[in-house]
Amino acid sequence: VSSCLARIDATEPKIQALLNLQREEALATAKAMDAAGPDADKPLWGVPVTVKDVLCTKDVTTTCGSKILGNFKPFYDAYAVRKLKEAGAVIIGKTNMDEFAMGSSTENSAFHPTRNPWDLSRVPGGSSGGSAASVAASQAFGSLGTDTGGSIRQPASLCGCVGMKPTYGRVSRYGMVAYGSSLDQIGPMTRTVEDNARMLQVIAGHDPKDSTCSERAVPDYLAALGRDSLKGVRIGLPAEFWGKGLDPEVEAACASALNQLKDLGAEPVEVSLPHSPYAIAVYYIVAMAEASSNLARFDGVRYGYRDADADELLDIYVKSRSKGFGDEVQRRIMLGTYVLSSGYYDAYYRKAAQVRRRIREDYEKALSQCDVLCGPASPVSAWKVGELTDDPLKMYLMDIYTISLNLAGLPGLSLPVGLGKDSGMPLGLQLLGKAFDEATIYSVAHALE
Ligand code: GLN
Repeated sequence: VSSCLARIDATEPKIQALLNLQREEALATAKAMDAAGPDADKPLWGVPVTVKDVLCTKDVTTTCGSKILGNFKPFYDAYAVRKLKEAGAVIIGKTNMDEFAMGSSTENSAFHPTRNPWDLSRVPGGSSGGSAASVAASQAFGSLGTDTGGSIRQPASLCGCVGMKPTYGRVSRYGMVAYGSSLDQIGPMTRTVEDNARMLQVIAGHDPKDSTCSERAVPDYLAALGRDSLKGVRIGLPAEFWGKGLDPEVEAACASALNQLKDLGAEPVEVSLPHSPYAIAVYYIVAMAEASSNLARFDGVRYGYRDADADELLDIYVKSRSKGFGDEVQRRIMLGTYVLSSGYYDAYYRKAAQVRRRIREDYEKALSQCDVLCGPASPVSAWKVGELTDDPLKMYLMDIYTISLNLAGLPGLSLPVGLGKDSGMPLGLQLLGKAFDEATIYSVAHALE
């Protein structure tokens, strides 16, 4: 814990990965644990971790990167946070994020942007950019992120760490502030595949407090690691992921990782996800619709920011929400309300729900022909801070390789596969799997690592 705090002191002024630091609390917890001695029943005993600020932490501010929750202190821990604590992990801070997890660069935080530890003029990706940067800068050994459309896998890729978005329902969303409830999942971001598997082992499992959380038993993820051959493993290559639009250096790094997989004995299989060109349009309709409904609860009445000048109820709503939410969040609330409104519901929302089903069927078909799918995590390496902030549409297009997986509810991991030969920045490969088959993803990723 003290070595991580020293790293934070050395790196945080430039990177700004954190929204709050639990220095005294973490040291006190670590001291008490030290005095009591190691506990073999606690698989993460003494491991310093950070947690994205969208997850409730008891008595510690949980802002979601938003002014509207700037002073919000929950009175309970999110399920995943509680599990980490019970396993002996020490939470040393909460990480920066795009406001309400809406973004791909962590520049939409109401507080400050986070910088990429590999090059401070570049973004760390997002929305879990603070978590990725904190792991990449060795401020912590692992971090919890959330992924609605790529927010774990894309920043992991841009910062050179390992990020897993588990199957929808694998990890309880209890205590995670909702963005798109049918898409959101919590998952680990770490330096290695093994660390990642250890963390997922702790946070996965049934929780009656989340009705979408699966009752399936959690397999032993560590048992899946350590294969020295991938003989018999079929790796599906979706044609739509390896075609145009891909930056040459990303393609080169992913192709060389693929060759490594072949050298290990894996067999490539060509597959297709024909509806993937619609994924971005479908995602941004579904996610905004769900967000507009989820964010209705922030009304300045029960908790969070209330504008001091407001004098009657409607005025409280309007002023608190206008001043409390940032531009991107307001844009999404308006677009989400629009696609759900009568007259437009059928044209947009219902249509999107139908195409979403097709996208899921594409994945089912492709995954019936192989064990995992493989492709890039992001079409480009980390871009410059400010480069895309004036062009939200371009920013949305950055999610092209991550978003369809959330629509299908399936698990996916991003793994570093080297540095770009032009940019010198980290690049990630994605491995996507069948529902609740995180173990196969881990075993392939570990062999490749
Ligand atoms: N970039 C996507 C969005 O802005 C995904 C974000 C996420 O996964 N939370 O919606």
